[in-house]
Amino acid sequence: MYVEVILPLKLSGSFTYYSNGYNVKVGQRVVVQFGPKKIYTAIVLSKHNNKPKGYKLKSVLEVLDEIPIVNKIQLNFWRWMSDYYLCTIGEIMNTALPSSLKLASETKISFNSSFDGDITTLNSDEKIVVDTLLIKNDVFLKDIFTKLKKRNFSLIHNLVLKDIVFVHEQIHEKFNKKKVKSVKLLIDPNSINKFDLTEKQVIFIEKFLHLKKTNSNKCFSISEVLNYVGCSRGVLKLLCKKNIFEIVEQVKSRINFEQISTKPLNKLLDFQKLAVKKIKHNFLNKNVCLLHGITSSGKTEVYIHLINEQINAGKQVLYLLPEIALTTQIIKRLKVFFGNRVTVAHSNLNNSERVEIWKHLRKKSEQKNKIIIVLGARSALFLPYDNLGLIIVDEEHDSSYKQQQLAPKYHARDAAIYLASLHGSKVLLGSATPSIESWYNASTKKYSLVTMDQRYSYIDPPEIDFIDLRKSYLKKQMKYQFSNEMINQIDDELKLGKQIILFHNRRGYSPMLICSECGCAPNCIYCDVTLTYHKLNKQLRCHYCGYSKDIKTNCEKSSSCNFIDKGFGTEQIEETIKIIFPTIKVKRMDYDTTRGKKSYENIISNFENGNTQILIGTQMLSKGLDFDNVSLVGILNADSMLNFSDFRAYERAFQLMSQVAGRSGRKGKKGKVLIQTYDIDNSIFSLLKKADFNQFANNQLNERKMFSYPPYNRLIKISIRDKNQNKVEDASSLYSNLLKASFKSRVLGPEYPYVSRVRNNYIKNILLKIEHTSSIKEAKKILLLVNQKIKLKSKFKTIKIDIDIDPL
Ligand code: ADP
Ligand code: ZN
Repeated sequence: MYVEVILPLKLSGSFTYYSNGYNVKVGQRVVVQFGPKKIYTAIVLSKHNNKPKGYKLKSVLEVLDEIPIVNKIQLNFWRWMSDYYLCTIGEIMNTALPSSLKLASETKISFNSSFDGDITTLNSDEKIVVDTLLIKNDVFLKDIFTKLKKRNFSLIHNLVLKDIVFVHEQIHEKFNKKKVKSVKLLIDPNSINKFDLTEKQVIFIEKFLHLKKTNSNKCFSISEVLNYVGCSRGVLKLLCKKNIFEIVEQVKSRINFEQISTKPLNKLLDFQKLAVKKIKHNFLNKNVCLLHGITSSGKTEVYIHLINEQINAGKQVLYLLPEIALTTQIIKRLKVFFGNRVTVAHSNLNNSERVEIWKHLRKKSEQKNKIIIVLGARSALFLPYDNLGLIIVDEEHDSSYKQQQLAPKYHARDAAIYLASLHGSKVLLGSATPSIESWYNASTKKYSLVTMDQRYSYIDPPEIDFIDLRKSYLKKQMKYQFSNEMINQIDDELKLGKQIILFHNRRGYSPMLICSECGCAPNCIYCDVTLTYHKLNKQLRCHYCGYSKDIKTNCEKSSSCNFIDKGFGTEQIEETIKIIFPTIKVKRMDYDTTRGKKSYENIISNFENGNTQILIGTQMLSKGLDFDNVSLVGILNADSMLNFSDFRAYERAFQLMSQVAGRSGRKGKKGKVLIQTYDIDNSIFSLLKKADFNQFANNQLNERKMFSYPPYNRLIKISIRDKNQNKVEDASSLYSNLLKASFKSRVLGPEYPYVSRVRNNYIKNILLKIEHTSSIKEAKKILLLVNQKIKLKSKFKTIKIDIDIDPL
């Protein structure tokens, strides 16, 4: 018997091994050797009896799972994704599996220093591993196996599951882990009678041990322990004094299987009820429904009702959000109704949490029905669902759904629709400003459409007004970046005790400095862009590669540069506000101010409880945040969103401005929005004022049709990068000529993008436009052949080629 396996590598196709007498199943993990030395965890794709010819086969070394870790639906999903996005199935495996499920000889592991369990119960091999890791962190598995004198993946895997050992994540964990103060027993439980203890203290210890025993792996906060044990904090204090317990900080698992009390669902208003009814009705005929509901219409409430029906029917639900940060708010709302049947799953959970969820979903159904709702960002698509009834894609227009940097460059919304088809389940796309693609699919009846155009509170959407910057500058009615009207309005709202949000999509002090003496402008040395000035630390920084340098007063041409700033960023706005409103508390929320651990939460909570009156920020404050007391939103320069050569610039600007505007007047009184622009006659603004998304979207569709852009055509972007500019020139023109032979005028470029050099790599892009009427499969075949030809040329060996299907 032979098995075809997937290896977690960027190599195309599957690999054949001899089954070695193991009765392997499809979807199981097996350990195999690849190349002369390396050992990997692989996934069984299929089994057969056709002995491959021409080379000596290696055998499967170990089988890791009883129940296959990956189910057949997932394998089909992986196959589709690798075909559609033109990457290898190994790359999909890499994205899909948490790292501790794919241990390899090159994997590094470490001891988990916050582990509070009992190491004395480990067996001898496990002890060897732990002892090795106590001496040195970050040890390669292959070195551990040398110490053990054998290779044993299951052993390591079990240590990972017990939280004793952790695997180094490739992705660094940006998301704050939930830390709790907990208690740790310092003595051997069997030696209690050796200590001089009061009756209360003995009861404390016994109950504590019972709690631990019945909930192994779980971390309890101090108050949870005290609650369970039924003792006061004083007892614990004394026990700590006697060195029997210790207070420790621990990372708390986000997964919680216990029952917690839940509330009945909120009653829906009539228009919300009608929406639910229509959505269900539409699902009878079409698998995908677009819910176009203005902000605060209660889309989330509608989702909750639909989720409830699914789980009552015994089905699983996947609820996708574009960003991890948004899951914290929504999970709170969902837990109220669904308790611990809902869990969060995204790439920033720690490994054992992800594996725990994964394994839980792979259990036999009778033990399972605990978690049935998964809330997550795009990576949650890869969990082993076997019974999905509904996938919700909230804020479906959001570009964060697209994986931009690494292969597979998939779009989670589109992938969700395919995944749903494999499960025979339904998809609900929700947005206040749908993507032009989804809007088109709804207009052409590929998807059904349901609209909610009232707010839950019945407060009208905010009043939007515009300020003509050209006039204001001419009439000298400007203070720094603010028109007099804007300042007066801010002043009025502040006097009423209201709060204000100011939006600007550039961080830093100034995006560009120019010397008035010699005309020099500081550029990044690695990228083809000007450096942004950050006044606070007197630094010039590249927003593409992170390069920074101190600002100097001389350059090659001049010994006394006198810089003036062109354009402004959020830092400058903050400075201005402090000058104009010296007594008002103002905070800024952008990439620069939110890098500290708690800073994001701090800025938000300070604004929520009224410590801050004015909040200035970038995109970051456009999403999801719900403030009660904001009566004015100011957009300081709308033009900076419109001037891009990207055909999606208007779509994004409309979405962004609508979202930011939606922060005003959510509770209480109707809100106000003031937008400053040099381009006041632009039709986007009148449509925004009327909140006429439909007209806006239809205009966009007309334009896209005229220029053959999506959704009327498909796009494929090929990026060619190298440190050597000549090579990029040669390779890209050869590439495009080869493509033109088949695709003719459908090939655009090669062209340098707006920023033509990043991190010292020159970039040229080729764009391929494929009509919907022609076969995308055929086109991809030709593309891959061309790609192969280029790669085979030895002079282009160093060149990096990226293929992006449906680029954003
Ligand atoms: P959206 O997702 O469309 O922006 P939400 O579902 O977040 O809207 O609703 C906005 C606010 O109104 C939330 O605070 C929500 O709790 C409340 N809300 C909406 N519908 C209801 C309802 N039927 N019952 C109680 N509260 C509701
Ligand atoms: Zn740079």
